[in-house]
Amino acid sequence: MTSRDGWSWTKSGGLKQGVPSIGVIQPATIISSTEVFYDVIIVGAGYTGLTAARDASVSGLKVLLLEARDRIGGRSWSSNINGYSFEMGGTWVSWEQPHDALLVSGLHKFVNVDGAMGRKIIPFPHDTFHNPEARQHDNLSAQDRLNQIAATLSPNERAALEGFMVLCSGSTMSKMSFLEFLHWWALCGYNYQGCIERLITYKFKGGQSSFAIRFFQEALATGNLSYAFNTPIQAIQDKKNMVEATSKSGRKFQAARLISTIPLNVLNTIAFDPPLDPVRKAAADIGHVNQCIKVHAEVTDKDMRSWTGVTYPRNQLFYAIGDGTTPAGNTHIVAFGGDHFHFHPEENVDTTLQTFQNLAPGKLNIQRLVFHNWSKDEFAKGAWFFSPPNLLSTSLDALRERHGNILLASSDWAVGWRSFIDGAIEEGTRAALTVKNELAKSAPQRANL
Ligand code: FAD
Repeated sequence: MTSRDGWSWTKSGGLKQGVPSIGVIQPATIISSTEVFYDVIIVGAGYTGLTAARDASVSGLKVLLLEARDRIGGRSWSSNINGYSFEMGGTWVSWEQPHDALLVSGLHKFVNVDGAMGRKIIPFPHDTFHNPEARQHDNLSAQDRLNQIAATLSPNERAALEGFMVLCSGSTMSKMSFLEFLHWWALCGYNYQGCIERLITYKFKGGQSSFAIRFFQEALATGNLSYAFNTPIQAIQDKKNMVEATSKSGRKFQAARLISTIPLNVLNTIAFDPPLDPVRKAAADIGHVNQCIKVHAEVTDKDMRSWTGVTYPRNQLFYAIGDGTTPAGNTHIVAFGGDHFHFHPEENVDTTLQTFQNLAPGKLNIQRLVFHNWSKDEFAKGAWFFSPPNLLSTSLDALRERHGNILLASSDWAVGWRSFIDGAIEEGTRAALTVKNELAKSAPQRANL
């Protein structure tokens, strides 16, 4: 099946919108046409929504899953072209790469705010503010922290460090929170090798969509799941005794509870009634800062399979790695850009080809490009969550609060692997368990015969 999402380019076919994906669901809707009252409506079929749908339906609740796109996976999905998976968003579930001494020495200076490599400031990676001192560090951008240690860095250490920071945030040094990077560092075991192992090594052979579809199929197999794709929601109303979701086409759906998994950067596109609290609304207005650009290319040179290139800050795409060999025998290279030199890859494909080729001049004979523009995506408006300064310390607790019968769950405000697939699964589990426990309590007690 072909999704409306994503773009591809080939020499013979030119630029085309929409790419094949096993994450596209057919039929797009399985839902009763008569009015049905569900236990829980879940808005969004990314990993948070799929996890919630799976857990809730397996536990016996009647679930309605509503999704704006034609596919599952949200910000984690793969295009499967000729039996090969190109990851358009979330990819790695753990990672390991060559040890880079220059980057390591720069990183150690950067994170060592407490003489303990960040361990005193964030002693428990899944509880960012366990030490109240962490709040002070959230005032700092990565640039502020860099300025504090600038005199101790060689020019090459500084360049390696900056390149790594903006790769993590998809943003700029001055827009990204220092504390959020420290949180990533803590999650990765307070060392660079841990970052590499967890962040960029292991991916699924069949692609993220092959993993996401298992959640969907498990939920469907219970017989408790109804769903509608191509159904963007525009309003969510808590009527006290039930919640009502209204789609853009005006269709209304009702349930005892609703789990919204709508990402932070598009949360304010939904009319909530009663309105969301001011702290949460303000946080959504500020949004996260990640405008990562991720572009795949198939190139003919086989030696590029084991190549890594960094061109920060000169080139629009500034970091690339050989990531596989396609069935045609071509090398698959994935490249990243971000907010520091932002562009929209579909607007001028010649520019995109040129910036890709600049990564390794003369070495990249490009046969195919595949990408998804997350910045223009109306249901994401950005890539993975990365906090600006002060957002976490002022708003994380508020973002996690429930809103009457509405639970708001997203990888964007997970406590553990916030920003990651694992954070989405954490949040989907949290929301489904809460609903299950509440509805179990309110269900009439049956005699135990
Ligand atoms: P989403 O996946 O965004 O799901 C939300 C869903 O809600 C979407 O399907 C959306 O269409 C839907 N929706 C939005 N608005 C509406 C509406 N009005 N009506 C109905 N539905 C709506 N994570 C990793 O662990 N490893 C990685 O290597 C990694 N790399 C990444 C690279 C990129 C380029 C990107 C973009 C992300 C990456 N991530 C990575 C992060 C990971 O993809 C996300 O954190 C995770 O997928 C978010 O899941 P979610 O369900 O919380 O949100």
